[in-house]
Amino acid sequence: AAKTAVKEGAPEKADAGEPTIFDKIIAKQIPSDILYEDDTALAFRDISPQAPTHFLVIPKHRDGLTQLSKSEDRHEKVLGHLLHVASKVARQENLTHGFRVTINDGQNGCQSVYHLHLHVMGGRQLSWPPG
Ligand code: 5GP
Repeated sequence: AAKTAVKEGAPEKADAGEPTIFDKIIAKQIPSDILYEDDTALAFRDISPQAPTHFLVIPKHRDGLTQLSKSEDRHEKVLGHLLHVASKVARQENLTHGFRVTINDGQNGCQSVYHLHLHVMGGRQLSWPPG
């Protein structure tokens, strides 16, 4: 089912530094299908894929980046890196006919996990505009 309105994640808790589910994935306390990892970024398959290929790219160190709208000048480098990782993993996943990169921000953006993440979706013809 399409996600029209979202149950509020927990932005205040995340902003206060409390861990999210993604911290457990980074720490490998819960299993995930990891596609790429380096010192800065982790890419893994979304547990609820919205396309034949759907993975997430996240910073390993949240450093205040609970959501894109909280970005500060110090985040510029990691933000660029995440986008490049999205491209590299899309290539690795053979998304040769194109793909989409999405960042959901806050309530109106239907964000549910307050640890910045890029969605990369492909493997079928996507439509536009999104809901
Ligand atoms: P958001 O709704 O915040 O833009 O995206 C959060 C994404 O994280 C959702 O697409 C959801 O399916 C995914 N997700 C939530 N929990 C887990 C999990 O435990 N493992 C994985 N692989 N993905 C998750």
